[in-house]
Amino acid sequence: MTKTYDLIVVGGGPGGLPAAIAAARAGLKTLLVERSAALGGLANSGLPLLGFVDRAGDHVVGGIPQEFVDRLSQLGGTMGHYPCPVHNSLTIINPHWFRIVSFEMCREAGVDVLLYAELMDVKTENDRITEITALCRGEVRSFRASVFIDATGDACLATRAGALCQKAEKLQPPSLTFTIGNVNKERFRAYLKQHPETAKLPDTYGMEQNMAQFDAKAFVFTGFGEFIAKAKENGDYSLPRDRIIFMTLGEPGQVLINTTRANGVDTSDYESVLQGEFECHNQIKELMLFFKKYAPGFEDCYLASISPCLGSRESWRIVGQKTLTADCLTDYATPEDTVTLAGYNVDVHVPHSNKLSIQPVEHAVGIPYGCLVSKNIHNLLVAGRCASIDSSIYGLTRVMATCMGMGEAAGTAAALALQTKRDPKDVDITALRETLLENNAILTTGKKWNYTE
Ligand SMILES: Cc1cc2nc3c(=O)[nH]c(=O)nc-3n(C[C@H](O)[C@H](O)[C@H](O)COP(=O)(O)OP(=O)(O)OC[C@H]3O[C@@H](n4cnc5c(N)ncnc54)[C@H](O)[C@@H]3O)c2cc1C
Repeated sequence: MTKTYDLIVVGGGPGGLPAAIAAARAGLKTLLVERSAALGGLANSGLPLLGFVDRAGDHVVGGIPQEFVDRLSQLGGTMGHYPCPVHNSLTIINPHWFRIVSFEMCREAGVDVLLYAELMDVKTENDRITEITALCRGEVRSFRASVFIDATGDACLATRAGALCQKAEKLQPPSLTFTIGNVNKERFRAYLKQHPETAKLPDTYGMEQNMAQFDAKAFVFTGFGEFIAKAKENGDYSLPRDRIIFMTLGEPGQVLINTTRANGVDTSDYESVLQGEFECHNQIKELMLFFKKYAPGFEDCYLASISPCLGSRESWRIVGQKTLTADCLTDYATPEDTVTLAGYNVDVHVPHSNKLSIQPVEHAVGIPYGCLVSKNIHNLLVAGRCASIDSSIYGLTRVMATCMGMGEAAGTAAALALQTKRDPKDVDITALRETLLENNAILTTGKKWNYTE
């Protein structure tokens, strides 16, 4: 039996969740198809949500994404937004609460959720998607809809539908993050006070860390290059990373490590992903031994958890009606067709290297609606990582708060398209923006976030 919906969203991560919730709240019969056993996508790893507050201190993502944070806050699942001299703002979340809140918000909105459901086939007629099939724990199921949103991160739906897509020649590498417990932060801080040079950032960062940030409850640390050098000399370190990056979690003594790197791996290629998983699991073993032997405060730490899967930074993106390019940084533009704001920095894990580069972005910029609309498949929108963004500026838009903002915009646009019997590309953008604003989305800069709240 083929079930029919108004809208099908494929991918239940930061892009897909607000898309499905916004559309269902607007009255669309909405199906969310997710291949794993839980909602949340990469937010399930425990990484902090970046991009809620920009470098100038403006609150730049509101609406459903901020509602996630408020609901998490009520449950003790986040400490809210914290300032950070490198990442602008950090919103540390408890990934387990994020999963629970995701289920709750989908259920309340009336979204039909499929888990363990991997997209298999996509049927198109006259440049429109008509039907998809998903493998649901060994059972093949078919679904039809009027509009589709690809929120798979890797543009799985778009590529299979024959949508025009782009992929950079050299991709930012994926990483597997993991959590360790029993870290003695006081011992770490004592070392830092005596050796502030450990936190000096490489020249490829256009900014510096400051000592005060490490006294906060929520912080990200980049450093320990001196121990990496020593461990290399001793034959104890072979990872392609010149610094350790870790971030605090809400739980005392726990930190999340973002240091593994699978250079050359393309997460849209099956064999390549397998190679990346093997490589990164091996790197985690090496890092655990490294932490215990070299890193002050980490002597008695233990491996608490490994993220559900290799995290992809970059693969396929659609070619949209519009593409956001680096030009937006010349005047920090928020054009009239802006449907969400990108308030992070251009953060690039330099392909095939051990380096990371960050270009500071002083103000958020607008993501135009056309970046979410397929150029050639008439009933396809995207949300999240696979939006139409030029690779030169992609490091600015791939963070989770920004992906969530795109999701709300795509879901709201899908509803407007169906209500006005238009294709997504012909949606009245003024009406779309009005609806987004009514739902507390933020489309212009200038509203300061009060960090003391
Ligand atoms: C190592 C690493 C560290 C990062 N650090 C941060 C950070 O600190 N803060 C931050 O804000 N951002 C960070 N990012 C970026 C951010 O996490 C991602 O860009 C963001 O999660 C993208 O959201 P998304 O919804 O587009 O994709 P995803 O989060 O990847 O979600 C996609 C969802 O679609 C599902 N899916 C995929 N294919 C299919 C299919 N064929 N069928 C059905 N379902 C499918 C997946 O299971 C998943 O649930 C990091 C990324 C990486 C890789």
